[in-house]
Amino acid sequence: MIALPSQKPVFRFAPSPNGALHLGHALSALLNKQRAEATGGRLLLRMEDIDPARCTPELEQAILDDLVWLGISWETPVRRQSDHLPDYRTALDSLIARRLVYPAFLSRGEVKARVAAHEAAGKIWPRDPDGTPRYPGDDRMRSAGEQRDRIAGGEKHAFRLDMQAAMSIAGADLCWQETGDSQKGAILADPSAWGDVVLWRADAPSSYHLSVTVDDALQGVTHIVRGLDLFPSTAVHRLLQRLLHLPEPVYHHHRLILGADGRKLSKSQGDTALASLRQQGMSSADIRRLVGV
Ligand code: GLU
Repeated sequence: MIALPSQKPVFRFAPSPNGALHLGHALSALLNKQRAEATGGRLLLRMEDIDPARCTPELEQAILDDLVWLGISWETPVRRQSDHLPDYRTALDSLIARRLVYPAFLSRGEVKARVAAHEAAGKIWPRDPDGTPRYPGDDRMRSAGEQRDRIAGGEKHAFRLDMQAAMSIAGADLCWQETGDSQKGAILADPSAWGDVVLWRADAPSSYHLSVTVDDALQGVTHIVRGLDLFPSTAVHRLLQRLLHLPEPVYHHHRLILGADGRKLSKSQGDTALASLRQQGMSSADIRRLVGV
């Protein structure tokens, strides 16, 4: 289902308050603002704060301060993902009921040890587009009875998508419309490269993939403008949209701003943090010039 053309375009900037905004975020926020203005659209702000261990109110406030300084304004209220966990749980439960999701009992450490032993024997373990080893198949094969017993016994577990089952329902024609800086047009989505992605974590509720997909639909987002680092994730988001019968936004993945070392900026690189550039005396016009918007 493609969003209706008569609708006002809806854009969103969706930072995670787990670190300071840097020049890459400035580019994203400014492009969202520019496109919303150019199309008579709306701009929403969403705090992706589902990871309670890393997200803090102070970091969220710092993001708001940076955005105001950059000259960005957004509709209120700001959607905070931690306020909407039942929405993600409802989506998860519908996938569990269709047996497209299974409880995953292996800890990170167990997976790591399994992969290390495999690789030490000279064998290749498949990795996802982010370079993370794909989840082993053990838990996917368990009977409903065993799953129930282990959960009833209090065993810690995440929930993962059964990628093969999901793909067989979604079909081979899964695409998205891309208007971004690398490829353009209809992009064939290949979510299988991710293996059985995690949709609900053992140590944090929900996952990036599930909550971003549910929120974009609930907020009526029609245009997603974000960095090229999230281009591969779009295949998973399109798959979830199809499984959950959600509308399909248009995607625009923009170029990344690289650091002096030629690598993608990270939140731990303080020198490109907007707050530190501001303290060095830069104006928001300087930031626009730096990122080329
Ligand atoms: N919260 C994500 C981030 O800060 C962005 C999510 C998105 O734009 O889809 O990297």
